[in-house]
Amino acid sequence: MFGKVVKLAKKVLGKTKPRTAHEPVVLARDAHDVSRRDISEAALKVLYRLKKEGYAAYLVGGGVRDILLGLHPKDFDIATDATPEQVKQLFRNCRVIGRRFKLAHVVFGPEVIEVATFRAQTEDGDRHQSEQGMLLRDNVYGSIEDDALRRDFTINALYYNIADFSVVDFVGGLEDLDKRQLRMIGDPEVRFREDPVRMLRAARLAAKLDLSIEAGTAAPMPKMAVLLREVSSARLFDESAKLFLMGAGAATYRALQANGLFAELYPATAKAVKQDESGRVERMLLLALGNTDARVAEDRPVTAGFLYAALLWHPVQNAFEKRLARNEAPAEAFQHAVSEVLDKQCQHTAIPRHYSTMMREIWTLQHRLPQRAGKRAERLFEHPRFRAAYDFLLLRAEIGEADQELADWWTDWQEADGRGREALLKTLAATGEKAPAARRRRGPRKKPAPATH
Ligand code: ATP
Ligand code: MG
Repeated sequence: MFGKVVKLAKKVLGKTKPRTAHEPVVLARDAHDVSRRDISEAALKVLYRLKKEGYAAYLVGGGVRDILLGLHPKDFDIATDATPEQVKQLFRNCRVIGRRFKLAHVVFGPEVIEVATFRAQTEDGDRHQSEQGMLLRDNVYGSIEDDALRRDFTINALYYNIADFSVVDFVGGLEDLDKRQLRMIGDPEVRFREDPVRMLRAARLAAKLDLSIEAGTAAPMPKMAVLLREVSSARLFDESAKLFLMGAGAATYRALQANGLFAELYPATAKAVKQDESGRVERMLLLALGNTDARVAEDRPVTAGFLYAALLWHPVQNAFEKRLARNEAPAEAFQHAVSEVLDKQCQHTAIPRHYSTMMREIWTLQHRLPQRAGKRAERLFEHPRFRAAYDFLLLRAEIGEADQELADWWTDWQEADGRGREALLKTLAATGEKAPAARRRRGPRKKPAPATH
């Protein structure tokens, strides 16, 4: 796509890559496709105001990258030589956030424009240096070139200059866009060690933008994946939500598996996938991720709870079966299996209580869905988690783990009126499901034993 513009730049500038660190490739306004029409009004306002006050002002990061790829950016980040305090003085609707690294957020209704001062070091690079006793604050801010070099991938380090509408490239990002590849700036091993989350970003961006990960960038990932253990589980939860809920979840899952990252985030799930010769376990994951992607594409709401329920369902099943084999009572065995799997997973990626409660409910309801006689179906249908549990049942039916007839019965139930429901309940008699009252007569009431499938 950029072959033409890069060649043109080569002609004009005599090169495509900076020969020295100070010579960026600069594409003049008519040599690239970034137009002000692609940039939100709010971002333009901020850029122009900064420029008017004599500051450097550039659009940078995912915004420039996405426009060059012909996509619509989801947000706009701005880089400037003004300090956050100076930015604050220019905008009434501005707040300065962050402790170690201050950033300015300029707020326009629902849109927040992030304005960052050119910075020399990554956060973790700074931590590194502080451990060696070097001054922290002194080297926080830097030149635009420093700012480019501390970014992760070359295509994320392209700057659109509001002063002359040119695109500035210090790191060969235009060429990489042309090759449709993600390439780490600098030595990939060093950069992954500084911040292992960059490996997840590589998988996510490659999947989302349909790019390849350049060989040198991908090569160290499997062996460096263990470094993800050092990242806080809270940050990993945030990142993993982004991995799977942003519209390219299935592709991201594949990229994570291909680069040896998935097992670091979800070890129990990775094990369940590996041990399952039938391929069902992975099929269920891909179905759940595919459904989520489809919902995102239609702008329908998605929830992490449902997806995590799908991700961890088979680990729960495996733990449950192990406990049954040790003669634990089914109801307890199941609840213990759930707690065990959730506790272990939380050591890797934190799961907020709201989601773990939802997961527990979806899973527990799987055991109640087959029990429909008497008033049970009606009660279950009124359960606030019924719909999620039903959707989950459909997934299980699709991989052949739950009865398709059961899934269809519930589909019919939801569509039926009062009479239809009575008729549906009658069909249960034919299949031999007993009304709960019939059971109770047999002796003291026990907790209903969950059916395994
Ligand atoms: P998205 O479309 O998902 O927003 P993005 O690249 O814009 O992709 P952001 O998280 O918004 O992602 O980050 C903005 C920019 O900040 C990136 O393009 C990159 O230049 C830089 N950046 C983000 N995270 C890192 C990181 N871990 N290490 C280095 N640079 C980073
Ligand atoms: Mg962004």
